[in-house]
Order: sequence, then C-alpha cells, then structure tokens
Amino acid sequence: MSFVAEFNLLPLPSLVRKSLTADTTAVRESQAKPRLSLMDFAHLISPAAAESLEVLSRRSHQLTQQRFGKVIRLFAPLYLSNECVNNCQYCGFSRDNPILRVTLSLDEVRREARALKEQGFRNVLLVAGEHPKFVPVAYLENCVRALHEEIPSVSLEVGPLETPDYRPLVAAGADGLVVYQETYDRDVYAQMHTAGPKRNFDWRLETPERAYAAGFRRLGISPLYGLADWRYEAISVAAHADYLLRNCWKAQLTISLPRLRPCAGEFQPLTHMSDRDLAQLVCAFRLMFPDAGLVLSTREPSKLRDGLIPLGITLMSAGSHTEPGGYTGAGREKLHQTVRGRIVELGASEWAPVGQASSRADATIPHGGSSAASRATNATGQFDIADARSPGEVAELIRQLGYEPVWKDWDAALTT
Ligand code: SF4
Repeated sequence: MSFVAEFNLLPLPSLVRKSLTADTTAVRESQAKPRLSLMDFAHLISPAAAESLEVLSRRSHQLTQQRFGKVIRLFAPLYLSNECVNNCQYCGFSRDNPILRVTLSLDEVRREARALKEQGFRNVLLVAGEHPKFVPVAYLENCVRALHEEIPSVSLEVGPLETPDYRPLVAAGADGLVVYQETYDRDVYAQMHTAGPKRNFDWRLETPERAYAAGFRRLGISPLYGLADWRYEAISVAAHADYLLRNCWKAQLTISLPRLRPCAGEFQPLTHMSDRDLAQLVCAFRLMFPDAGLVLSTREPSKLRDGLIPLGITLMSAGSHTEPGGYTGAGREKLHQTVRGRIVELGASEWAPVGQASSRADATIPHGGSSAASRATNATGQFDIADARSPGEVAELIRQLGYEPVWKDWDAALTT
C-alpha cells in the first residue's frame, strides 16, 4: 500500500483535536514511552506540552547526542535554474512571476560548486524549478556527474520524476532526494497550486517512494509551514516519515522545518507558527524519530538557529543563495524573462514596467532577491534568507556551542 492510501485513512482532524485538548498527564505518559505512536506525537505538540518545553528539550537534547554525537553537518543549496512551469502562490519562481531567470550551463554549475568547495562544503543540494524544456533529466544527470567528481555528496531538490527517470541520476552519483509536500491539506494544496503538473497532490506525495525504488539512499520530506495549520502539517509529515521508515528502511530519512519566507509575488503566510512552536516541534520530532536527521535552513534568523542547535538539529545550510549563479555571478549575461515557455529579452516582455530600460542593471523586478544590488544584477532568488552569516561564521558558532561542524556527509563517506 502506498503512503497515499495510508494518508487517506488517517484521522487527521481528530488527531489535531486530541492535540489541542491533551492534558499534562497525557503529555507526561507519551513522553515516557520508548516508542511513540502518532497520538503520542500529537500530545507532544500540544499546548499542554508547550508548558513543559524545558523537560521536552532536555530529553530531545539527550536523545540527539546519543544518536548523533556532538556533530552538525553543513550543506549548501546550489540553484541550477529558476525556470518553472508551475504556479505556486508562495514561490518567487512561479511561472507567472515576471522575474529574472536563468539556467546555468554545466561550466557555470562547476564554477558555483568550486566556490562552495572553497568555502569548505562537500555536501551540496542541487535545486531547480520544474521545467522539462530548460531542466530536462539529461541536464540534471550531466550536472550530477560533473559535480560528483569533486563533491562526495550530491542531493537533488527538483521537480518530481518517474522512477526510471530517477535511475540515471542515481547512477550519475546523486545520493539524496528532497521533496517538500508543501502542504498536506488537500484543499489548501489545490488553492496554492493553480497551474502545472504540481497540481497533482498524490503524484507529489508518492515521490519519495519512487525515488527510493530508483536507489536514492537519503530521502528528505517536509511541509512548508505557513500554509495550513502547523499541527495538522506536523502530524501529517510524522505519519509520512513513519511510513517511509517502515517501507523505505534502507534509506536515511531527514525531516526539514521550513517556515515561509518573503518572496517575489509578495505572498503572505496564511497561518502562524511561532518560534516557540518551532522549538517544540524539533523536540517532538526527535522523540518520535530518534534517528531521523532534522534540517534547519537559512530561512530562520541566526539567533533562533543558534538556539535550536542543541535541541535536536543535525543538518544546517549556511551562507545560502537562492538564485542561480548566486555564489559566483555565473549566468548573469543570460538573464531573461520567460513567457509561456519562451525566452523574452529584457525590456521586450509584456511584463516590463513602463519606461524600463533593456539593460540588466536597470531591470526592475519585484521583491524577492537577496538584496537590492543582487536584484539588479543576478537572477531572482526563490525567497529571502534570514541568516546571512558566512559558512565560516556559522561553523565557528557551532564550535562555540561545543559541536563539531562537519562539511562532508558521513553516510556517503561510509558507503562509497
Ligand atoms: S515551489 Fe517549486 S514548483 Fe513551485 S513555483 Fe517554486 S520552483 Fe516552481
């Protein structure tokens, strides 16, 4: 049975209600269990459990140290392309956003990877919008093969594919696949995804299973917090993680904790998740899944990231750019807008503001780049980052907290 079938049978509204009404006795009992059920997890993310967050944090901290030691692994996203055929209301790369777009050539991808390698990274996540014309499987395969020569651990966060299409990517050296469901609420999902293949909720939900069948040995999942009720999303992704641990057991599982950030299109989060909620959720995931990697990106501000490290985070991005060419300026000379799948020179687009000059330096684009300067000269980023520290600064902070920053993925090192 696929996860879609299991998901359709989950009593999610009832679990959310149980979470909201759990009392301290229920929380204490759930916390003491060696193996937690979905109901126990619902108790751990309850308002009642929030009142004893310190106790939850201590347990989460102990478990993380037992299972992972005092180690934080670092990775960086490398954006290949911001072309996309989908319209996702919350994403700067959405098809209908009049942003500056580019797809990096193989040489440009190598340049970006070398810049990351010079900063210390040996674990890179290749990210691209979903566009079969600009980002075909053969292109992804070539990128993975080119990078795998220099970077031991290459993961992908790209448009979902069929299992046979994933196989050449695994053969080329990709070991991890990350796919956010965005929201596990079908109604909200339908409202957020108004055009493109991403409208198919079930197809996306089954992506980790197809990736596993193709041989990926690291799977990453998550909702994007800020679209539907965070407890509903958390219980859903916990059910998803539980399914993958039972059915895709040879793979290492990571769960990310992304909250919505500002992006092109000015989308505002539909729901609120506080910093304290986020901290509670880190602890609940750790107690439910002691061996799962918990991932925190530069979407969160530096102070909060530093505070969450001891609670249970095991993997962090650092110094991230969310635009293609963001580390070296690669691809600047090819910037364009894309209308109905066709490249349009800047200044010639129907979207171009009145009086817009055709020079890139003068191009006006909506909010969404990482800075005013980069907006004028680089492709548009997917979202604004909140922790702008350099990788070296993040590594130093990790050391100050008594942890060892690890740049290379240990799992890949053991298995290659
Ligand atoms: S979230 Fe992904 S699929 Fe949606 S517009 Fe952005 S890049 Fe495209």
